[in-house]
Amino acid sequence: VSRVIPVDTFDLVIFGGTGDLARRKILPGLFRRYCAGQMPPEAQIIGAARSEMTDDEYRAFVREAVDEFGSTPHEPGQFDAFLGRVGYQRVDAKGSDGWEDLGARLRDDAVRAFYFSVGPALFGDLAERLRTFGLATQDTRIVVEKPFGHDLQSARALNRELAEHFNEGQIYRIDHYLGKETVQNLMAVRFGNMLFEPLWNAQHVDHIQITVAETVGVGGRGGYYDKSGAMRDMIQNHLMQLLCLIAMEPPARFEPDSVRDEKLKVIRALDPVEPHHVVRGQYAADENQPGYRAHVEDPRSTTESFVALKAHISNWRWAGTPFYLRTGKMLRARTSEIAVVFKDAPHSIFGAEAGRHRNMLAIRLQPNEGMTLDVTIKEPGPGGMRLVDVPLDMSFADALGPDGADMPDAYERLIMDVIRGNQTLFMRGDEVEAAWAWTDPIIESWARRGDVPKPYDPGGSGPDDALMLMHRDGRRWRDIK
Ligand code: NAD
Repeated sequence: VSRVIPVDTFDLVIFGGTGDLARRKILPGLFRRYCAGQMPPEAQIIGAARSEMTDDEYRAFVREAVDEFGSTPHEPGQFDAFLGRVGYQRVDAKGSDGWEDLGARLRDDAVRAFYFSVGPALFGDLAERLRTFGLATQDTRIVVEKPFGHDLQSARALNRELAEHFNEGQIYRIDHYLGKETVQNLMAVRFGNMLFEPLWNAQHVDHIQITVAETVGVGGRGGYYDKSGAMRDMIQNHLMQLLCLIAMEPPARFEPDSVRDEKLKVIRALDPVEPHHVVRGQYAADENQPGYRAHVEDPRSTTESFVALKAHISNWRWAGTPFYLRTGKMLRARTSEIAVVFKDAPHSIFGAEAGRHRNMLAIRLQPNEGMTLDVTIKEPGPGGMRLVDVPLDMSFADALGPDGADMPDAYERLIMDVIRGNQTLFMRGDEVEAAWAWTDPIIESWARRGDVPKPYDPGGSGPDDALMLMHRDGRRWRDIK
């Protein structure tokens, strides 16, 4: 039985339809939704970019992209039928070429969505032309990619530019982390169970750690990355969103503004971060590969490829409970997880020799998505009451069967949400600004102090100072594995 609910018919225009993101994620994702039966047969996908291309040439481009980046088992003829829904229109985001022709391809009775898969410098130009050439209807949606600004000022400027032509209910700011099935599962775990929520506060939780580790370096993206760094590229958006979902109050309903209001309150309740509670790192060379600086233009670059920090949320629920965040490139394993470490039992009836034991709930976002709850039990044997922590382990693939492992990719999910008109998993403008307002002073303090990131060995867990950040508090990071 298919659990897929088809969306209304739509015209989706992908500005930047010949770009890297379109090739890797958007186009293969649309094909998979088509095969899953979610995309109505009359839906239209129009690639739009600067190059001159015919519809057929673009179809060949789409076929290659899907083959390379994620086809899915399909029936004979299905690929051609999908490509029959695809077209191409040359447009100039900075001029007037192509806009009227693009408008002529759009239908009045279909949901209309424009995906801005181009650099943010073009967002304002595109929004303005959609309006002036009459392509934007009352119910048109626009989808904008990260990075949403470089700091608070530029994010505000982008929000203002978009707001001149679209209202907030039409603007879908993508943070693809929110589209991950396991990230949404955070809300299901917290608010669908009786077991966790009563303990989910400073009284019972010792600390929370959030790790997003990558094994890759900056590679060919060095030019872009060097102007950004881990704080802007990961903490301000992805880790911040995870922090919000873990820390927010229960929204009254699972509805866009209820959820986003609660997330915003978390960001606004974050204390400014003490400079000595932040560790920056930059990966060094080893015998196998060059270090960070070899991939970027500036051989003395002080951009960080790693950040660890300790954050505090000043509200009733979390006062006194630290949140440790860590992300970096070229680390030991590719892993994303959130660990909620509970406090020790208030009194041990087993005496000091039983040792310290505590419960820990780890939610793995990738790989091998699932959850582990460490529970303390008696170590078997006759030697008295010795205790040991053992995991109650669950992987979604095991628990849910093949369907559990076959989760739609984040982009697939989010694009379908755009067509449905559901903004729950998209960032609101005020959220993005609040997140920048929190990260800006940290970045400014580095610049002011001429801070140089600590070098760290590839394949490890970041600079030693990051370990010290926790050790000083009598705590330790979970292993990156
Ligand atoms: P890209 O450089 O590969 O593609 C840019 C696209 O924009 C091309 O199709 C190009 O033709 C089009 N374009 C450029 N100038 C234009 C103009 N004046 N008029 C019309 N079209 C024009 O970029 P990308 O990697 O696909 O990234 C697109 C956006 O997505 C960026 O904002 C990027 O930060 C973001 N993003 C990319 C990735 C990724 O994996 N590539 C991941 C997350 C976010």
